[in-house]
Amino acid sequence: MHQEKSWHSQSADSAAIELKTDINVGLSSNEVDNRQQKFGLNKLTEHKGAGPLKRFLMQFHQPLVYILLAAVAVTLALQAWVDSAVIFAVVFLNAIIGFVQESKALQAISALSGSLKSTATVIRNGKRDTIDAEGLVPGDLIVLQAGDRVSADVRLTKIRDLQIDESALTGESVPTEKATAELPDKNQLGDRHNMAFSSTLVTYGTGIGIITGTGDDTEIGKISTLIATTETLDTPLTKRIKHFSHLLLYAIVALAVLTVFIGWLHGQPLLESFMAAVALAVGAIPEGLPAAVTIMLAIGVSRMAKRQAVIRNLPAVETLGSTTVVCSDKTGTLTKNEMTVEELWSGGQRFKVTGNGYDPQGEIHFNDNAVDVASHVAVLAILEAGLLCNNADLHEPVGDQKQWRITGDPTEAALLVAARKAKLDTQSVVAERLDSIPFQSEYQYMATLHQRSDERCIYLKGSIESVLPKCTFMLGERGEQQPVDADVVKMHVEEMAGRGLRVLAFARKLVDSTLDTINHEHVADGLEFLGLQAMIDPPRPEAILAVAACYQAGIDVKMITGDHALTATSIARQLGILTDSDTNGAITGYDLAQRPESEFAELANNNKVFARVTPDNKLQLVKALQRLGHVVAMTGDGVNDAPALRRADIGVAMALNGTAVARDAADMMLIDDNFATVVAAVEEGRGVFGNLKKFIVWTLPTNGGEGLVILLAVVLGVSLPLLPVHILWVNMTTAIFLGLMLAFEPKEADIMQRPPNKPDAPILDSVLLWRILLVSTLLCVTAFGLYKLELSWGASEAEARTVAVAMFVVGEAFYLLNCRSLERSVFSVGLFSNIWIWVGITVMAVLQLLFTYLPIMNVWFDTAPISAEAWLRVFACGLLISMIVGLEKRWRYQSKAQQLRKTPLAGE
Ligand code: ADP
Ligand code: MG
Repeated sequence: MHQEKSWHSQSADSAAIELKTDINVGLSSNEVDNRQQKFGLNKLTEHKGAGPLKRFLMQFHQPLVYILLAAVAVTLALQAWVDSAVIFAVVFLNAIIGFVQESKALQAISALSGSLKSTATVIRNGKRDTIDAEGLVPGDLIVLQAGDRVSADVRLTKIRDLQIDESALTGESVPTEKATAELPDKNQLGDRHNMAFSSTLVTYGTGIGIITGTGDDTEIGKISTLIATTETLDTPLTKRIKHFSHLLLYAIVALAVLTVFIGWLHGQPLLESFMAAVALAVGAIPEGLPAAVTIMLAIGVSRMAKRQAVIRNLPAVETLGSTTVVCSDKTGTLTKNEMTVEELWSGGQRFKVTGNGYDPQGEIHFNDNAVDVASHVAVLAILEAGLLCNNADLHEPVGDQKQWRITGDPTEAALLVAARKAKLDTQSVVAERLDSIPFQSEYQYMATLHQRSDERCIYLKGSIESVLPKCTFMLGERGEQQPVDADVVKMHVEEMAGRGLRVLAFARKLVDSTLDTINHEHVADGLEFLGLQAMIDPPRPEAILAVAACYQAGIDVKMITGDHALTATSIARQLGILTDSDTNGAITGYDLAQRPESEFAELANNNKVFARVTPDNKLQLVKALQRLGHVVAMTGDGVNDAPALRRADIGVAMALNGTAVARDAADMMLIDDNFATVVAAVEEGRGVFGNLKKFIVWTLPTNGGEGLVILLAVVLGVSLPLLPVHILWVNMTTAIFLGLMLAFEPKEADIMQRPPNKPDAPILDSVLLWRILLVSTLLCVTAFGLYKLELSWGASEAEARTVAVAMFVVGEAFYLLNCRSLERSVFSVGLFSNIWIWVGITVMAVLQLLFTYLPIMNVWFDTAPISAEAWLRVFACGLLISMIVGLEKRWRYQSKAQQLRKTPLAGE
């Protein structure tokens, strides 16, 4: 359809006519097929972020590169052509490598966020269905509800309290109230209140409308720049490293100036002392580190994705490793969310419902005998209430499917199944739905208004706390009205909930035949209580294991639910969140709100199960836990969970049952809505963090060693063992072919038996700093020593330098094996348990041989072939370094292992 068309200035009916659709039943399947042919998929043509050229040029925007470019200029001025050419080539190569790494990381992230399909609810052929949003066509009748992301441009036809956050489009962050009436033609985007636009978020209410434009033919499609995602690759860690490099830079510039000065004192040629200064800068600054960290985190992102956790921003990978408490929803995350009604209580009697899952095969039993529901007025009434006060749908198996399928809320689907078992369905129970109040966790109930033959009736279902106080009578066994006996009702609720059943209460109210819309006031009182339906929602078996894993890993687990305190307590016991020694049951959100804020932290810390929790309570909990120094992962699925998700260190949203609003606010998404996935992500996070640490501990001694070698040479006033190009060579090749292989290091076996990383602890503790210093010194001593030795035996400058470079490369390769575990020996890790290490070492060996023996490389890098004996000496020194580090680890680790043996780990 045409963009110029102003849909907002015509009536909904005329829009429907123009779009050739029916305002009630939507399009037919045939017509949908036709239009899909004609309009194509409902998706935006991709617009890339910052262009490749810009990202490539940005690689030169680094302090180190400035120094190198200055070096190029100076060497040119001094007519040292080869030097300047090589340095320039290396700078260029470095930019290419940085560019490729960054692109890979960006790709990994954007591929993931794109992999999640969004869905939409449509009405076609008069039936609601949930479809892939890409299949929407102009003319489709779309249903919007709180939490949805609008998938196309829509002319609204029917709304109820609809509010939409249009900030993605207009920048206006206050949600707009929607309407359906025609508007003046001149109204701008932000004032077209009868339209809903693609990419905006429904924050409240519900609505139905006709799609006027899809794909690029939407308002958002016109503003292509908005789509360019602004992913940042900065994380707290890379920021810290960058900051550290910058500090180092100042120190080094000062040292470099000093170097030139000392060189001058020693009477060295200017070129020589200048080269020393450049070498110092290049060697001592770990400029490649942030990029390496980024790529390692990106590898972590894809590992997590394999385990069903989609990371929405890179820093989350880091934070996951230091998570100290996971606050999880109960329903669907800790439990299967496969609800089956098992018991009814109505008319003062208890009934059992037989059958399994969503298959509507089963009966209603009283004292183990099937009953005819038609003759039980009270049972009939409560099943009808469940059938009518419902937004879910049940789908028969089609084709080769065996299972019944549901759409909508599983709690509601279970009610449809229960009704079906008594031969009740929407065909047999004639009741036109006139209006509804959707379920919201704050209110804990849902209501619908129906026209039933000659009476108009409101049905209400929800938590016992929200329904019972609104009731003035209660339906008796034979349909008579009785006074409400709250104690008896509560007794039944508590008995059922105590067994872990999810209990829903039902009520109804006859209303005036002129009433055609309802609000909360209409259901505030005067209702007739119909009874209870109780459903099982079994715990996920894998969640039981995951909870145990958390406790072993020193991570606290808290269950947060809107459900009844006793149901929550019972499920928490089944999951092992509560053990026999826990005397605290559940604390309710209501109790929480009664307590002074000063007690919050303590309550949050001491309780594990929080029931009847509102989104507000969630936010308070996150804050309280954070005040105690916790790193909090919090799950959430509703619109109102968004603030808590944003506030949490790791906001976790559900891909299956969560809303788009929650997903938007979250750092991580669970593809399978499963608690075990959170724990898997934490495990991966710890693994990534561990490998990062190994990489840093491995890489810094290269810088340290190089820096020391140059300083030593300058102070002694001797020729440089390493030229800037040599240092560039070592840093670039070893970081990629040796260091990055640590990213493929398998997680250490005991990774989930250690306490979480302390969030504010330095990355490197004193032990590791000491080790870095040790290895730096060893590299400096061996490289400098061999260089001097070669010279004293009459080797040329080029040969001696080639040996010094080889010493660094070989030393780093040996030390790489040490770094595969920071505590244990390489043999206990398994020499070949990460085959990439050996692939990397092999490639590095080939490169180093080329560097040494290829004539053209000899010219470029000022190297020379060296003898087999020289190699042997290099190897001996490399082995020596590795052995010294090995002994150092053993010495430390043994004393630690002894301590551990005294306090055996749980599960051993
Ligand atoms: P949770 O997802 O943690 O179980 P909810 O906020 O979804 O918490 O539900 C809280 C309570 O609201 C439930 O225990 C139930 O009593 C009631 N409830 C849940 N779903 C519905 C619904 N679709 N309609 C009416 N009441 C509901
Ligand atoms: Mg729920």
